[in-house]
Amino acid sequence: MAKPTGARCNLSCAYCFFLKKDRLYPGDSFRMSDDLMEQYIRQTIEAHSTPEVVIAWQGGEPTLMGLDFFRRSVETEKKYIKPGMAILNTLQTNGTLLDDEWCEFLHENHFLVGLSLDGPREMHDTYRKDRAGRPTFDRVMGAVRLLQKHKVDYNILCTVNAANEDKPLEVYRFFRDEVGAEYIQFIPVVERVSERGFQEGSDVTERSVDPGQFGRFLIEIFDEWVRHDVGRMFVQQFDAVLMSWVRGYSSLCIFRPTCGEGVVLEHNGDVYSCDHFVEPDFLLGNIINKPLIELVGSDAQRLFGQGKRALLTRQCRECLVLFACYGDCPKHRFTSTSDGEPGLSYLCPGLKMFFEHVNRPMQIMAALLRQGKLAEGVMPLLAQEERQSHRREKPGRNDPCPCGSGVKYKRCHGR
Ligand code: SF4
Ligand code: SF4
Repeated sequence: MAKPTGARCNLSCAYCFFLKKDRLYPGDSFRMSDDLMEQYIRQTIEAHSTPEVVIAWQGGEPTLMGLDFFRRSVETEKKYIKPGMAILNTLQTNGTLLDDEWCEFLHENHFLVGLSLDGPREMHDTYRKDRAGRPTFDRVMGAVRLLQKHKVDYNILCTVNAANEDKPLEVYRFFRDEVGAEYIQFIPVVERVSERGFQEGSDVTERSVDPGQFGRFLIEIFDEWVRHDVGRMFVQQFDAVLMSWVRGYSSLCIFRPTCGEGVVLEHNGDVYSCDHFVEPDFLLGNIINKPLIELVGSDAQRLFGQGKRALLTRQCRECLVLFACYGDCPKHRFTSTSDGEPGLSYLCPGLKMFFEHVNRPMQIMAALLRQGKLAEGVMPLLAQEERQSHRREKPGRNDPCPCGSGVKYKRCHGR
């Protein structure tokens, strides 16, 4: 993914890890030149022999580049696209600069837009403020309506943080029933206290999600989803985790044995190992001096990706849900196991709880998919199971009535 404005953004969200990154480039204008944009697109297309190529724009806030930059990027893609190849453009945005003209362009060029929204007004506005400290909820909701009006494909990116972690159903139902969204991603805020904004230290800010609460957050939403919404609401974590049950590995890097395929390109051509590791130690090189494909295939990047498996703690290696979790993202591995081994994910307690909780429905959905059926078949099956277990729990006719009357059930509430 590419960051055409580097870390620059028109908002100042309290938990944003990007904003401190501009210290890596003091005095820089933080604008990708057209020459570099062309290099990025050409090199990305040339490096692919797959039928689809993703050109991903991320920030900071990429819309600060202005619409014409993206018009030129689409023209550049047409110049280099190979026969039979399709290009999917994605744009991650806070939405506040979108208008009708933007949305017409996004629709015409089939962009997939990721929009940041942290739930209902009060929760969203806790941390997502502009540079003047003003709330942004109304502006983001305005963007949602514009995207919907122009039929732009979008998904919601919702961070899970101290302000919304204990209201999972409120958040989920807001997206489903009020926003009308169908695609949602939940991203845990795990923000380490570091002046430099690097992945260092083991203290987290008070805005960070509590590990156990993150598990409960996902579980409550999962229980609602798996009973009512499979096949009509798409929660990235649930789909990605289902793949672990279906084929043995997830579609999300954080839950895969190794990673390292998602490098990030800065506005000046510098390439880093991952969006979460834009730090000098993880700088692979610059695409002006070395082709992108060589940087992605470099030994340094291979070591980075394989480190995810190589550095698993013993607790993870012996964990029953390792196949689904794989120790989580290395950026979260700054706590210790019960016997003191460092390198355990901060989110481990919540992730373990979640993976254990979803095991049975995941097994059912995986079996359905293997039989060529739809995963939504899980909903009537679970409803039937619950009816049967409810019947089993019903007291016998001669048992004492559970209402506490001391009378036999058949003569009391069982009548
Ligand atoms: S460090 Fe984390 S986010 Fe980055 S590629 Fe690896 S698993 Fe994915
Ligand atoms: S649940 Fe915890 S112990 Fe198990 S693999 Fe994940 S991080 Fe490791």
